[in-house]
Amino acid sequence: MKKLFFAAAMAASASFAGQSFAADQQFISIGTGGVTGVYYPTGGAICRLVNKNRKEHGLRCSAESTGGSIYNINTVRAGELEFGVAQSDWQYHAYNGTSKFADAGKFENLRAVFSVHPEPVTVIASDASGINTLTDVKGKRMNIGNPGSGTRGTWEVIEEAMGWSRSDLKLAAEMKSAETGQAVCDGKIDAYFWLVGHPSALTQESLASCDAHLVNVEGPAIDKLVADNSFYRTATIPAGMYNNKEDIRTFGVGATFVSSADVPADTVYIVVKAVFENFDQFKKLHPAFANLKPEEMIKDSLSAPLHDGAVRYYKEKGWM
Ligand code: GLU
Repeated sequence: MKKLFFAAAMAASASFAGQSFAADQQFISIGTGGVTGVYYPTGGAICRLVNKNRKEHGLRCSAESTGGSIYNINTVRAGELEFGVAQSDWQYHAYNGTSKFADAGKFENLRAVFSVHPEPVTVIASDASGINTLTDVKGKRMNIGNPGSGTRGTWEVIEEAMGWSRSDLKLAAEMKSAETGQAVCDGKIDAYFWLVGHPSALTQESLASCDAHLVNVEGPAIDKLVADNSFYRTATIPAGMYNNKEDIRTFGVGATFVSSADVPADTVYIVVKAVFENFDQFKKLHPAFANLKPEEMIKDSLSAPLHDGAVRYYKEKGWM
């Protein structure tokens, strides 16, 4: 954590301007995702509420666009970010040292803060591609997510569950989410795959500006994934959310907000308090937050222990 002490400079300017300044400010950063996803506005919403009372608590919060969940968890682990948004499947694996985190080992200091919106597995295919079910993506050109994204990690899990290898796709593109919509509209790829909250700006833009549709992600292999793993659940993208006349049947994870036990409890307490004391405002900052309920956010989709600073606030509120 970067702490800047500019006491000397401040003393000079304070006497000059006749104003008082906090002796020190603490900077916190939240790792998010691509700018047209939902993680980036989630980080932005949290920071906006934290920064509202900056003068009182001295925390200055900024949201950074990043490669997504796995990058965020690794960067929190390295102490270079205080917070990150991450899919619940990757929170689980990081804490337990399983799957993609088997080599790095358990991230025992990973801490859950709260969960946010649901993230269904979402496949957007051009009408020209002929893709209407998950199995139709075989032999097609699809974006499977940039390395470091939760999307990419979960694609690899699905690929294995389906018994596919990378060469079962004609092209496995690795673009960042923000580039994928244009690529589908331009016919450079047939489809893109990602895990995202709804509505999301990118999904909306693709479905509104080119001939494309959402695809159901279901079948026996998906049923087995959901049955075998606590962090997956069946999900729907409701009819009319975009250009879909019917519910889209799929499965998904939860977006979660995580930190590290190395981040002081006082810092996490201030962040959590800013969100929940302004909860009506928070919910209005993104349409994917419409159905959030504090009692669910403090337990659903979380597998790492709650951070002490979050527990302090939740106990104060009588929620725990
Ligand atoms: N779930 C995605 C990931 O971790 C990011 C979604 C978003 O940017 O909203 O890769």
